[in-house]
Amino acid sequence: MVPHAQPQRVNVVAAPFLGRVTHQVLVAVAGLAVTHAADLRLTPDHSFAFCGPPSSAARQLMADLVDLGLVVDRNDPKAAISACVGSAGCWWAHADTHTVAADLAAASHMPGRVHLSACAKRCGAPAGVRQLVADESGTFR
Ligand code: SF4
Repeated sequence: MVPHAQPQRVNVVAAPFLGRVTHQVLVAVAGLAVTHAADLRLTPDHSFAFCGPPSSAARQLMADLVDLGLVVDRNDPKAAISACVGSAGCWWAHADTHTVAADLAAASHMPGRVHLSACAKRCGAPAGVRQLVADESGTFR
């Protein structure tokens, strides 16, 4: 939650885990924007910005977004993980990055910012971030 130019309003940003949402979540996000009288924007990093909902509605909006699986807290372990599409969408993949990422996020201790790649091509891997790469057996190293 970040301040808005009008003090009785706020801005709320929610990030999809791994930058992806289903169409059902997308429809629900649009519905929440209507329900909470917010302008909905997409940010350059693939997040949803709810601009200007009433301050009094912010907590409920954030709770609803979390219920949809979105990340609204920078300290959420899910915010520290990125991944390539993995076996969900790539012929080259040796592993299911989505499942491994969800397991990592659920772990009690995250080892800092991590990017998962399902093969040595490392598509989309950000610089300066710890990288785990799946070998041909599907093991991340
Ligand atoms: S890193 Fe490998 S598995 Fe992942 S998207 Fe790129 S080519 Fe596919």
